[in-house]
Amino acid sequence: MDFGYTEEQELFRRSMRHWVDNEIPKEYANRLEQQEYEFPHELWDKFTEAGFHAIGIDEKYGGQGGDIISQMILCRELARSLAGLTWVWGISSFSGAKSVGLYGSEQQKLELLPRLARGEIKFAIAYTEPAGGTDLLGAMTTTAVRAGDGWVINGQKIWSTAAHVADYLLLLARTAPVTAKKSAGTTLFLVPGKQDGVTTRQIPKIGMRSVGSCEVWLDDAWVPDELVLGEPGNGFKQSLGTLNNERIMLAALCVGIIDGVLEDALDYLAAREVFGKRLEQLQVLQHYIADMKMMQSQAELMTFNAAWRQSEGLECGLESNMAKVVSSENAGKCSDLALQMFGGMGYAYETNPQRYWRDARLYRIGPIANEMARNSIAEALGMPRSF
Ligand SMILES: Cc1cc2nc3c(=O)[nH]c(=O)nc-3n(C[C@H](O)[C@H](O)[C@H](O)COP(=O)(O)OP(=O)(O)OC[C@H]3O[C@@H](n4cnc5c(N)ncnc54)[C@H](O)[C@@H]3O)c2cc1C
Repeated sequence: MDFGYTEEQELFRRSMRHWVDNEIPKEYANRLEQQEYEFPHELWDKFTEAGFHAIGIDEKYGGQGGDIISQMILCRELARSLAGLTWVWGISSFSGAKSVGLYGSEQQKLELLPRLARGEIKFAIAYTEPAGGTDLLGAMTTTAVRAGDGWVINGQKIWSTAAHVADYLLLLARTAPVTAKKSAGTTLFLVPGKQDGVTTRQIPKIGMRSVGSCEVWLDDAWVPDELVLGEPGNGFKQSLGTLNNERIMLAALCVGIIDGVLEDALDYLAAREVFGKRLEQLQVLQHYIADMKMMQSQAELMTFNAAWRQSEGLECGLESNMAKVVSSENAGKCSDLALQMFGGMGYAYETNPQRYWRDARLYRIGPIANEMARNSIAEALGMPRSF
């Protein structure tokens, strides 16, 4: 079994690393991240120029093609510098374009995918509601009611990242009363983000601050039938089709965070002196570095394994959940160790580890909380459902 990159993948990885170091180094990411509430459009434009929005989109619809492995490499290399700002690329790409590619009608694909590939439109995901994200269906009160040749949507969403700048919200709403099977009667809509009846408010937060995450209110927002994604009544089931992809990408993002903090820690230990010695000569700090390296390898192998299974068309739900949990927890531990090794300067906004540390904290909570991912892992082993 070989989880190494092919020659072509390795070339792509190297070109990505070169691009990141030249175009979006860590100082650049630090500066962007400090502009709270202001979406980093210039970063989006750099991705557009580099063609990254087209990766993963079928060539037939104006994309560059590329499977989950290319997306995983791109995601990891971006996150090595950008950490959570990687979502500026990720939401439209591995959540938005993936959903349209999987469930869109031919007309939706022809209309939306080329524009996504050219970086002309942005997507946001609006699933979570204020009453709960883990028990999404139990908490969901947003409704869409038939009106002429469309639907009127009313309700509220929360934590919809980049909703304030999105051209389309991929939104889940209830279109039929709740029955014993809670997932039935839900529908996915592509709601134009800048239309009447849609308002947003950014929620101040501790990490990935310039990519705003929003509350979204829908007050009689009308959406035509052409903007229903997939089959009405089957929305939740369809949303499950993108979950493995999202978990693998999140795991890759966390591996990128580990890459970023490990190299920073090595540089810092080599440069700073205490007691007439460089920090790198202290055994305890060497052990921290060794721990980080082992956590990097563990997360990397589990992420590769899940991505490889997905690319081979093998069942990968268990592997994606495990990669997500391990990578997010290792990214948190590694960024915390890096911050510790920077001493007091680790606590300063002008150094890097704190940004990774704040961003990594989220990934144990979302897109799926690690407690819920563990529930699924236990269920995959035949244990009874615990909720
Ligand atoms: C910065 C940020 C960005 C986000 N971006 C988006 C986005 O773009 N689009 C979107 O739709 N959502 C987004 N989310 C929402 C995210 O997916 C949810 O926060 C997440 O799913 C958890 O839901 P919750 O916050 O309602 O917590 P809750 O569901 O209320 O959970 C609270 C706690 O209870 C635990 N818990 C709940 N049920 C169980 C159970 N059965 N077993 C064990 N433990 C359980 C959870 O693990 C958690 O620890 C974002 C969230 C944040 C913070």
